Amino acid sequence: MQKRWTIDEIKKFVENNSESKLLTTEYHGFSQKLLFKCACGSNFEKTFTKFNNKNQRKCDVCQPPKEAR
Ligand SMILES: [Zn+2]
Repeated sequence: MQKRWTIDEIKKFVENNSESKLLTTEYHGFSQKLLFKCACGSNFEKTFTKFNNKNQRKCDVCQPPKEAR
């Protein structure tokens, strides 16, 4: 089973595990796109699943999406 995250937990996780900040203030589920602010100043949207499991913790400029297999 997947852990259920609250917005506060996500916010802490983002702060502790990346240089980005979470701008979204409500979390409705894993398929929701959350708004982050990258260390470079750009905002980017990503689901928390991608942020967490796929290590996509920066904007597409700082961390261009890798071609998946
Ligand atoms: Zn960036």
